[in-house]
Amino acid sequence: MNFNVEKIRKDFPILHREVYNKPLVYLDNAATTQKPVQVTEEMNRVYETINSNIHRGVHYLSDMCTGEYEKAREKVARFINAASTNEVIFTSGTTGSVNTVAFSFGETFVSEGDEIIISALEHHSNIVPWQMLCERKKAVLKVIPVNGNGELLMDEYEKLIGPKTRLVAVAHVSNAIGTRNPVERIIEISHNHDVPVLIDGAQSIQHEKIDVQKLDADFFAFSGHKVYGPTGTGVLYGKEEWLEKMTPYQGGGEMISSVSFEKSTYNRLPFKFEAGTPNFAGAIGLAAALDYIDNTGIGNIAEYEKDLTDYAVSKLSQTENLKLIGTPAHRTSVISFLLENIHPYDAGMVIDKMGVAVRTGSHCAEPLMGFFGIRGTIRASLAFYNTRKEIDVLHNAILKVKEMFR
Ligand code: PLP
Repeated sequence: MNFNVEKIRKDFPILHREVYNKPLVYLDNAATTQKPVQVTEEMNRVYETINSNIHRGVHYLSDMCTGEYEKAREKVARFINAASTNEVIFTSGTTGSVNTVAFSFGETFVSEGDEIIISALEHHSNIVPWQMLCERKKAVLKVIPVNGNGELLMDEYEKLIGPKTRLVAVAHVSNAIGTRNPVERIIEISHNHDVPVLIDGAQSIQHEKIDVQKLDADFFAFSGHKVYGPTGTGVLYGKEEWLEKMTPYQGGGEMISSVSFEKSTYNRLPFKFEAGTPNFAGAIGLAAALDYIDNTGIGNIAEYEKDLTDYAVSKLSQTENLKLIGTPAHRTSVISFLLENIHPYDAGMVIDKMGVAVRTGSHCAEPLMGFFGIRGTIRASLAFYNTRKEIDVLHNAILKVKEMFR
């Protein structure tokens, strides 16, 4: 494996700071990832040298900035292997992307009595927009159940999908327990019923190669900040055949072709879905993050993270009175657990004081927590800049928690 974690860590200044006089161990990467200097310097460069509103100006800076924004779109298209830049829409994040489809697809294709399928593993951002759509249209929301390991019950899914299904929206990877869903099979089954699929890729884009054409996803959503890019950025990939037919989500500048008080007409793709001044500095920063991943090699990242995750799962699962929540056969580097009789919040507070950032709570997946009969978990989520030594620090912090609450 051509991968040097110490060299990578040098690119992430925040990893070298201390908290409570202890070296920071950042294991909250599913919530947000840290940024390499290649991204922050690129954004500074935009603000210091070419900052100007895009698409509208005829002056030099505006032209430069527009060019770089559109180059960023080309970068995203290549990164996910979209067939065309028309299929790449910049949004504010996964939530923005899912809401765009829920509204625009919903307005165009969903009527009373129709059905939308999601899964029991979803983040609230891939639940609530569909609920809002179903309320608006008097449609019905159906949910693919999970088993005790936190894996989708595919037989049940095959029973749920039918002539009334208009769209299936599922997470590629669960942010709460790390399950990697069989999205290839989900898409195949859906397409056999002529039903399009939205993949919530918020927790997969940073861990594995995404090829939207190979996957044959109709929509793919992800957030920039979870893939080492800037906050407030995101992408909605959509097949042109769907996007062309869908009504715009928001109205305003740039998404129009012409405006009169009688009637406005809409711009061509992808601008039809980008109302208002886009986060152009963010998009350019996101492209720099994707370059960073390409230079590191997503294959190297996946291999390194798998080794680190196996190490962490093995170490944690051998810890007395520690219960893993979610034990799927296929997983990524999100690990949820509970310590017997200790509230996750109390445990998280002590772990934090040891310099280790983990997340506690429901992880915006309350229905999944409900399924497991719990209020929340402690979640460690790993990135390619984490090390085995850091897992050992987490393990020691857990032992400390157990000692304190004995
Ligand atoms: N979907 C999943 C699976 C997530 O993990 C998250 C964030 O944690 C989201 C959606 C929402 O992402 P954002 O808050 O960046 O829009």
